[in-house]
Amino acid sequence: MLLADYHVHALAHGEYDYTEEWLYRFLQAAREKGINRLGFAEHEELVERINLTALEAVRASAQKQDGLWVGVGLEIDYKPGREDEIRNLTSGRAWDFIIGSIHYIGEWAFDHPDYRDGFADQDIDELYEQYFSLVAGAAGSGLFDILGHLDLIKIWGHRPRRYSEADFVRSILGEIKRAGVVVEINTGGLRKPVQEIYPGEKLIEELFQADVPITFSSDAHHPEQVGSGLRQAVELAKRVGYRSFMVFEGRRSFPVTLT
Ligand SMILES: [Zn+2]
Ligand SMILES: [Zn+2]
Repeated sequence: MLLADYHVHALAHGEYDYTEEWLYRFLQAAREKGINRLGFAEHEELVERINLTALEAVRASAQKQDGLWVGVGLEIDYKPGREDEIRNLTSGRAWDFIIGSIHYIGEWAFDHPDYRDGFADQDIDELYEQYFSLVAGAAGSGLFDILGHLDLIKIWGHRPRRYSEADFVRSILGEIKRAGVVVEINTGGLRKPVQEIYPGEKLIEELFQADVPITFSSDAHHPEQVGSGLRQAVELAKRVGYRSFMVFEGRRSFPVTLT
């Protein structure tokens, strides 16, 4: 059986160092969870702190020890107008995958605990609309292999009223399909106030009906979070109807059977 976690932050938000010893702890956690494909995806602003020598060392030893595949990617914030900057960031290095995420509406870091109050007195439907139009931009840019936490806007539990969340996802399926971008089933939401996988089950159903490929991730920021909730995510995807998911290598993706 193949189990993958394609969104792991060894550096978290900068509080840890990218050493061999630290990376081994993530690999060990992956093994304990039965994961055989582990993708490190640092936040873009920490790209200079990725120690390629340490990465290559753990990659080679994992390959030799038990065939655990270790890949490297980035998680990048999409904003309209950043396309060239993003292209520069992702060229010139052998990335296995690039995740495109929306953490900002304008300058507002809506998912950051310090700025959570920004939701007060706002029209939630309008926020959802702004958020999903940014997601559509990320998908349509063609710059990303994976769309990160598709419905992150629900992080603190705010839900739209006039529209359903499925309406918003349906409105961007065209961009997702045209770009051929993969959507991650990200268990990080289980550890947030919303306590729900990104995207939620109804949205995964919309993706399945539209034949959008998926992959799996924990968004771990610590070894203890590697693979957390992943079995639950796999069961959810299977229940919805998915029979395969995508894995990535050298920015190419290929499907594997969901078991
Ligand atoms: Zn993120
Ligand atoms: Zn992340």
